[in-house]
Amino acid sequence: MAKTIPFYINGTEVTGKGRTAAVFNPATGEQSGSVSLASTAEVNEAIAVARKTFPGWAATPPLRRARILNKFLRILEERTDELAAVITAEHGKVLSDAKGEIQRGAEVVEFATAAPQLLKGEVTENVGTRVDSHSLRQPLGVVAGITPFNFPAMVPMWMFPVALAAGNCFILKPSERDPSASLLLAKWLTEAGLPDGVFNVVHGDKEAVDAILHSPDIQAVSFVGSTPIARYIYETAARTGKRCQALGGAKNHMIIMPDADMDQAVDALMGAAYGSAGERCMAISVAVPIGQKTADALIAKLEPKVRALKVGPGTDPEAEMGPLVTKQHQEKVKGYIDAGVAEGAKLVVDGRGLKLQGYENGYFVGGTLFDNVTPEMKIYKEEIFGPVLSVVRAKTYEEAATMINEHEYGNGTAIFTRDGDAAREFAHQIQVGMVGINVPIPVPMAFHSFGGWKSSLFGDHHMHGPEGIRFYTRLKTITSRWPTGIRSGADFVMPTMK
Ligand code: NAD
Repeated sequence: MAKTIPFYINGTEVTGKGRTAAVFNPATGEQSGSVSLASTAEVNEAIAVARKTFPGWAATPPLRRARILNKFLRILEERTDELAAVITAEHGKVLSDAKGEIQRGAEVVEFATAAPQLLKGEVTENVGTRVDSHSLRQPLGVVAGITPFNFPAMVPMWMFPVALAAGNCFILKPSERDPSASLLLAKWLTEAGLPDGVFNVVHGDKEAVDAILHSPDIQAVSFVGSTPIARYIYETAARTGKRCQALGGAKNHMIIMPDADMDQAVDALMGAAYGSAGERCMAISVAVPIGQKTADALIAKLEPKVRALKVGPGTDPEAEMGPLVTKQHQEKVKGYIDAGVAEGAKLVVDGRGLKLQGYENGYFVGGTLFDNVTPEMKIYKEEIFGPVLSVVRAKTYEEAATMINEHEYGNGTAIFTRDGDAAREFAHQIQVGMVGINVPIPVPMAFHSFGGWKSSLFGDHHMHGPEGIRFYTRLKTITSRWPTGIRSGADFVMPTMK
């Protein structure tokens, strides 16, 4: 009997009473288990537990909260291999990449261990004569995180370490496609000393998400996933009076200037386009060489490397790229490659026919490279989320920058050049939230904040770092006067500085 992956509520595993969904090993195509899908009532039970727990957790000194996170950080570091194996088994990415995502998530935990420093307020003595003001940042209450399949450990860790450090209780609704990593994180938080009920996991689909969105006891929602769902989450959260940050999809361009170090640019593109089989919101999916000469040189160097990509199960230490997450997603990505051919793009390397001996039922698509893609094509406009790189040839830098600025998405982008002036112009003018200069995947470190522009993010706050602290706290400003005896009567005019 395949295992059923339970919820984690009030410090214990709880098996759902209703529907379930199958969970697969993407490398073999075999079902590895099933996951309970929470009903509205089950989500509400978890929220009720968190609500009851909140006053005690909010009153716990930030230093004590930070010490629990510190212990959790040590557990994460000691058991990275165990967590990485769980991620690879359900997501498919290679083990070294799974370890990388755990490290990037752990860095947010590390950031959050500075809670006492991060939560310090501001004081002004004598805002008026003998009147002082101080401002505090207080937790919101129960907050929720709804996360995608592609980073089952890192994306939840963009959210909950900061939320917990700030004194909130948390409901995590991870992707139902790779739900086991979140359960390990929950157990390790308990082991680190987190009181029961502070961090809870409910699995599920739209029903569970809607229960979160419509609960009057949820104060804020953090979401990461595709743009149509991000927009829905943001609109619904606004209607139900919740604070919301909803991160969506992406189409990230990399400009290669004629003066770029071509070998460096090609190596960067290989990792950024094909790492994690392209299932990264910061993956580069469009390369824009400037001028025909640059374009020809780029294709000449890229083609043999794409053909030589080592594709295999995530557990193979030689593999550079694993399978896609589900059969449906494999079909979708192949459909995009068909569409690119039909639209007239030049298919330089075709990954559709890849079959791996012993893994014939795995959801593999080989590295794919298109040349002569144009901005009118579907493969340019839409997010493919697979190992497919499109080369769009531009005559000038201005043409390339305009293309990026006019694209629906604005998550990440990069320029490869030796020209400081071009790089500076790019960084200042480009309409994208995260910019790399000779850095292909400019994911901000934990003490900065992560987020895109345009249809890649709905809301005002980016995730983790200083923006995360602002998102998970609300400001209170206290103005106080201590009378030295009763010195005056009532004042009926608007208070002004005296
Ligand atoms: P998804 O939108 O399908 O799912 C994300 C979450 O929403 C999951 O928890 C899922 O259960 C839930 N969900 C799905 N359909 C829903 C519905 N109809 N109503 C309510 N909730 C629903 O995304 P995914 O396929 O898991 O992840 C891939 C997407 O995430 C890509 O578009 C990728 O670019 C994006 N992503 C963005 C970032 C970023 O930082 N901007 C980071 C990682 C992933």
